Amino acid sequence: MARLIFLGAPGAGKGTQAKVLAEFSHIPHISTGDILREAVAQKTPLGEKAQGFMDRGELVPDQLVIELMRERLSRPDAKLGWILDGFPRTVTQATFLDELLTEINQPYDQAVNLEVPDDVLVARLLGRGRKDDTEDVIRKRLQVYREQTAPLIDFYKRRHKLVSINGNVPPDEVTAELKKFV
Ligand code: AMP
Repeated sequence: MARLIFLGAPGAGKGTQAKVLAEFSHIPHISTGDILREAVAQKTPLGEKAQGFMDRGELVPDQLVIELMRERLSRPDAKLGWILDGFPRTVTQATFLDELLTEINQPYDQAVNLEVPDDVLVARLLGRGRKDDTEDVIRKRLQVYREQTAPLIDFYKRRHKLVSINGNVPPDEVTAELKKFV
């Protein structure tokens, strides 16, 4: 049983590591980015609202993501634990998450920050080839990360819940470090 929040810039390896670690620990990997991309592909009302923001590299409005997470975390499989990847991304979302987890009596264990230098992030994102991985959108997403998401590092530090991990080493070494927390 583990409840972990993965922090880190776009390209830090959150998605890859969250997936591996979730499979290893038999708990769900909950990625708001994956859920939103699926909603866009299925052309659901959520997807239609989210698409423009995602294409521009901006954050989808807090309220939409909060509602989606409230629903996702209340499903039975979430009782086993989880790894959150890409949520929370703003202080508003983090505050909501604290309140929700207190309400459902499922406190998180740690927020894990994957640290990777900026030039490595850009090179990784350019090599990834996702629809929102063009150079302009990458620049925008990194700016949004610095302005809106990086403050969460202090948010969790103040709560004595932050662990920082060097994400600029081979993926297997990152995974080995992360396994210490599950
Ligand atoms: P990701 O796959 O985590 O890089 O997310 C891809 C895109 O989905 C982001 O650039 C945002 O537009 C949107 N997104 C994902 N998670 C969130 C979130 N927690 N809050 C707002 N927007 C999000």
